[in-house]
Amino acid sequence: MSMISNHLPTAELQALDAAHHMHPFTCNSELSQKGARVITRAKGVTLTDSDGHEILDAMAGLWCVNVGYGRDELADVAARQMRELPYYNTFFQTTHVPAIALAQKIAELAPGDLNNVFFAGSGSEANDTNIRMVRHYWAMKNKPSKSIIISRHNAYHGSSVGSGSLGGMSGMHAQGGMPIPDIHHINQPDWWADGGELSPKEFGLQRAQELEKAILDLGEDRVAAFIAEPVQGAGGVIVAPDSYWPEIQRICDKYEILLIADEVICGFGRTGQWFGSETLGIRPDIMTIAKGLSSGYAPIGGSIVSDEVASIISKGEFNHGYTYSGHPVAAAVALENLRILEDENIITHVKDVVAPYLAEKWQALVGHPLVGEAKIVGLMGSIALTPNKETRAPFEAEVGTVGYICRERCFANNLVMRHVGDRMIIAPPLVISTDEIDTLIARARTSLDECHEILKEKGLI
Ligand SMILES: *Cc1c(COP(=O)(O)O)cnc(C)c1O
Repeated sequence: MSMISNHLPTAELQALDAAHHMHPFTCNSELSQKGARVITRAKGVTLTDSDGHEILDAMAGLWCVNVGYGRDELADVAARQMRELPYYNTFFQTTHVPAIALAQKIAELAPGDLNNVFFAGSGSEANDTNIRMVRHYWAMKNKPSKSIIISRHNAYHGSSVGSGSLGGMSGMHAQGGMPIPDIHHINQPDWWADGGELSPKEFGLQRAQELEKAILDLGEDRVAAFIAEPVQGAGGVIVAPDSYWPEIQRICDKYEILLIADEVICGFGRTGQWFGSETLGIRPDIMTIAKGLSSGYAPIGGSIVSDEVASIISKGEFNHGYTYSGHPVAAAVALENLRILEDENIITHVKDVVAPYLAEKWQALVGHPLVGEAKIVGLMGSIALTPNKETRAPFEAEVGTVGYICRERCFANNLVMRHVGDRMIIAPPLVISTDEIDTLIARARTSLDECHEILKEKGLI
């Protein structure tokens, strides 16, 4: 069995963690002073830490545990597959049953002519695949100059060099030599932060038209694709005004620019349909998938590719792949996860029951003195914290100071809610019940109240 047990005292686990474990997206020296929270078990929507706290996970891990924690079916499938065929590759003209069955199932679920799946181990890897695939597509069509991919500032598409370049996170670009060449960023459709005096409708159109302007400035013969999340997730659950996506679609159609929908968060029920593209009326040529594909029980991602793009790529050898492309254990787990989503009507539960229930309570948070706007699509929501709702002003303190205080209060109140700058965000497991939503909202309100008191004490408001 494993060498280190859950039952060591928390302080010992924290000391070992601090000594040897480098955490992602973390200042490790600061964390080692404080000690990481040790999560030991989970069931449904609830995490248990090493001190026995029961925490409502309103982030579904990292937006991924769509069917909730503690699903024996998924553990059983993984064990069975490991015994039968733990690993084989899909290079060199071989295949195996889990990859075949999963690709078929994904093709069945995906809209339109998105019938072809290229597997990866994560969302980052899948977006790296997409960079190479769209450039290679145009090269195969004798237009090799079409290599620029347009993305958006504050987008999140992963953390590898390629996918991190596609993303628009300035903090990431500042480290390690990103972005790679031929990635261009336009502004995000964040009306709260950037809309000024414009109505949301005018602003949405204006931000979409930045895509057209970029295509014209760069030259149509240079642009391969546009990539975007249907709803920006890690950027702060930014929901574009209604006018945005139809205009983006019009522009992609007009200039024959491939549209890549990064569905890593929005896919597999998060927005109340199988894919965010369906909820927002987008017709992508490629979708990036990961996270909810396996509900996080096994690492797997991929690209769902249209018949047109796949037919061109398939004419020759695509010199690309990962050791774990279509990993049999991960594929078997993902397939079982899709079966659960389907058989238990979980997406209908989101659309008809919990999304409307949560939306009402979430939007009522704008009654709180700190909350400016509340946005929500399906089961992904955000609130903007502000000292002045009328002017939509930011706080005087550095961006993220107030959000961090609020997040710490949430943690103290046994609620995982994340902050992105001074927006608070949620994306709970899709199996959350209305009672659990009541608990989520009650803890969020308590945390907001406590945060408000702290801001007054510290003179931050
Ligand atoms: C998380 C995420 C990714 C990256 O996925 P990883 O599995 O962490 O590599 C890509 N795109 C979006 C929209 C994401 O939220």
